[in-house]
Amino acid sequence: MRILLAEDDSIIADGLIRALRKSGYAVDHVTTGADADTALVGQPFDLLILDLGLPRLDGIEVLKRLRARRCSIPVLILTAQDGVDARVRGLDAGADDYLSKPFVLAELEARVRALTRRGTGMPTQIEFGPLAYHQSERCVRMAGQVVDLSARELALLEVFLLRAGRLVSKEQLVDHLCSWGEEVSNNAIEVYVHRLRKKLDPSGVRIVTVRGLGYSLEKPDART
Ligand code: CA
Repeated sequence: MRILLAEDDSIIADGLIRALRKSGYAVDHVTTGADADTALVGQPFDLLILDLGLPRLDGIEVLKRLRARRCSIPVLILTAQDGVDARVRGLDAGADDYLSKPFVLAELEARVRALTRRGTGMPTQIEFGPLAYHQSERCVRMAGQVVDLSARELALLEVFLLRAGRLVSKEQLVDHLCSWGEEVSNNAIEVYVHRLRKKLDPSGVRIVTVRGLGYSLEKPDART
């Protein structure tokens, strides 16, 4: 899951980035509306968290341009506490949800989960062979036991589960897992896949390498 955060208040932004990354999201951060607009044109994101009061193009304008391009990614707007007008304008311009500042981090994270679920069509629970993925807890269980995964490994498994049985290219993995400025090579992706593969091994679920193309997640009964 890759999130674009457009927020010019560095204290709010730092807190959000830390919390979301800890939960395994890849977060890219911009501080102006113009930069948000540019980023949204060029990159695939699963969610936009948009402060409405941004310098160099305000949030409403960023949102209008986004929707004018028929881009349907979920958008969560952040508004001032008394910003009823701004909330109404934001929702009218195509925002999916809003939070008023100051907000509680746990509520923001719950809204992020709900919006990314809606945006990706990801159900709250996915069963894949002996694995059960629970979106609200962000954990995977194998025969009732939580599988010990790092945030990165969990994010990787989410990408595979959303595309189960289909080919996932290394580029797609890099796009979904990595923020800007994070140098993640194809080799690093191979290392993450290797670690995840080992942890899934007892379940029989396999990450099959399709040489030169990428990977696909397969159930134990697909074993030949
Ligand atoms: Ca602001």
